[in-house]
Amino acid sequence: MPSPRTRVAIIGALPEELEKLKTLLSDIKELQHGPFQYQQCKFEDIDCLLSLSGIGKVQATMLVQHICDTWKPDYFIFTGVAGALNKQFDTGDVVIGTEFIQHDLELNALGFERGEIPYTGEKVFHACDFLTKMATSFKTDNHKIYQGRILTGDQFITHDHVKPYFTDELAGDAVEMEGAALAFVASRHKVPFIVLRTISDRADGNAACDFNTLLPLVADNSCFMVKHILESLHENQKVPARYDAVKLEIADSAKKHQRTLDDIQLLTVSKNHPADKVYALYNHGVKEFAENRVQEMIEKAQDLPSDIHWHLIGPLQSNKVRQAIQVAQTIHSVDNSALVQRISRIAGEEAKTINIFIQVNLTGEIQKSGISSLSLEKLLIECSQLENINLLGLMTMGPLSASKDENLSVFNELKELSVLHEKYFSDKAKLSMGMSGDYEEAIASGTSILRIGSAIMGTRQYEQ
Ligand SMILES: *Cc1c(COP(=O)(O)O)cnc(C)c1O
Repeated sequence: MPSPRTRVAIIGALPEELEKLKTLLSDIKELQHGPFQYQQCKFEDIDCLLSLSGIGKVQATMLVQHICDTWKPDYFIFTGVAGALNKQFDTGDVVIGTEFIQHDLELNALGFERGEIPYTGEKVFHACDFLTKMATSFKTDNHKIYQGRILTGDQFITHDHVKPYFTDELAGDAVEMEGAALAFVASRHKVPFIVLRTISDRADGNAACDFNTLLPLVADNSCFMVKHILESLHENQKVPARYDAVKLEIADSAKKHQRTLDDIQLLTVSKNHPADKVYALYNHGVKEFAENRVQEMIEKAQDLPSDIHWHLIGPLQSNKVRQAIQVAQTIHSVDNSALVQRISRIAGEEAKTINIFIQVNLTGEIQKSGISSLSLEKLLIECSQLENINLLGLMTMGPLSASKDENLSVFNELKELSVLHEKYFSDKAKLSMGMSGDYEEAIASGTSILRIGSAIMGTRQYEQ
């Protein structure tokens, strides 16, 4: 079954932007829905919908709602112009909106804050963090890319109109006429979105540049940013396809080794890959991911939907236990008594039960964590007496750059150790073993959870 194609709705503020964007896109088809006019088109294997936003919050709201109802996008991209409030921003720079407030929504007299939507407690709407991170990383030569808070209202704000509350009370960086409306509707529908605005004037009385001379630059900026976002999403679209391919190979190997596919879980290791790539798999229905560093797991979890089940598979330092427990539901790398005591105590304080695996080091390689097989039984007994942990089984890593036979013998050894687990726990021990390079052998030896990274996510991207 082919993966469904990613759908991106692109809304531009100016006809010039749409004209320029069309040069990137193919198979352009006109669509007319009542008062709405769209161009449906393609970028590589991504389906796009182009439309012109019209000016002001009402038109923008109507448009976004209609696209959500009829076209069901995976992402929204909004482009256009804004006036700068932040003194750093210069004409021609791009600002990516991270937060949005309606500056003209004001019910102070009834006791609400400026921008607050009465009786909802809502005031600031947030853009999608992972799209923002993706877009901020693009390198440009002729303009800067900033992030900032956008104020939206149904008034064209020039220098003469800027009120002190724009920058004091609302702490705005830029001002325009649609962003907060788009942000509101897209958030309500849980569609990740990004708003990209080219600064058209500094709202400081020195707006020297005439808008018409700026138009080509706005169109260039929008086109540049949209092209890079679509290219990244196109790259990400390959991830679900690789996931499906790995699943097929697992099914083949399970058959070969007379194993039931239901007994083998595929856990995707997302370490060193950005959250936008993880989201492509999430959209594909994958809800469990593994990280080997606590900090990276926390950052990704913040940017991604809250129904993801996070697994920690790397070494856990005692001072990170609480943070780990707050995010992860399963920890695969428990290898000593002090650590498991601490996990049990802190899980209790956090009112949680944590799934754990005991990591066993069967290769004797000192760079690997894990308890020795000789000390395993003692730790199992200890685990059987602790609260707030749910011991699922044993975990190991195959030897570094080993032959198939060497991997097999390590995995078989873990399988044999599972009888120890079953001495103290009524459930059958699960085995967390097998990675991109050795999962076939792990399947042969009876693995329950394969931890696979690069075969699905691609080669890892390390920070420069
Ligand atoms: C990185 C990692 C994996 C996945 O490795 P790949 O070779 O990329 O599949 C599995 N388990 C642990 C503990 C890891 O750190």
